[in-house]
Amino acid sequence: MTMDQILENPSTLTLDTLESRVKQCTRCPLSETRTNIVFGEGDSHARVVFVGEGPGEVEDQTGKPFVGPAGQKLDEVFASVGITREEVYITNVVKCRPPGNRVPTKKEMEACLPYLEAQIALINPGLIITLGNTPTQWLFPSASGITSIRGTFLPWRGGIQLFPMFHPSYLLRYPSRAKGSPKYLTWLDIKRVKKWLDE
Ligand code: SF4
Repeated sequence: MTMDQILENPSTLTLDTLESRVKQCTRCPLSETRTNIVFGEGDSHARVVFVGEGPGEVEDQTGKPFVGPAGQKLDEVFASVGITREEVYITNVVKCRPPGNRVPTKKEMEACLPYLEAQIALINPGLIITLGNTPTQWLFPSASGITSIRGTFLPWRGGIQLFPMFHPSYLLRYPSRAKGSPKYLTWLDIKRVKKWLDE
């Protein structure tokens, strides 16, 4: 089955069968340097999907999303409001690590987009949290920079809303918890996500 067919008829797919295909993927040069693909994990019927930029070193080694230092920070953000990984789904724009953790190129993101599209179609969430500038501007090209747009519910498509937040690696660089700091603003944002989940 071609990628076009996957997207034409996602109802014939499951996340597991899609992941099996992604494991064989050579659609872009990141396949040449990856150790493992990092497909994504969590509840296959999650109401909220978190989308990061791409796997880092620990993720590439383990095949799991957000398990390195940024992932530990994300876990802290979740724990601050009682969200668990099991109730959400976590993935990235590209499923293979860009060498040196560089930003994925437009061509790499274009090559990988059908997988993210298929994941979203299969999971059918109500809310997509974009973590940082790359996924935000990739999924919502008219979005302004993350600093001004974070914490905003953006109507996307099919009734799905986007909600940009800072990438957890940004929080690692700015440890202050003072009012107005990235950590403080992220705490406000995740509280809004929790409220949305509880409604
Ligand atoms: Fe395929 Fe995506 Fe990996 Fe590129 S990043 S090889 S498109 S799975």
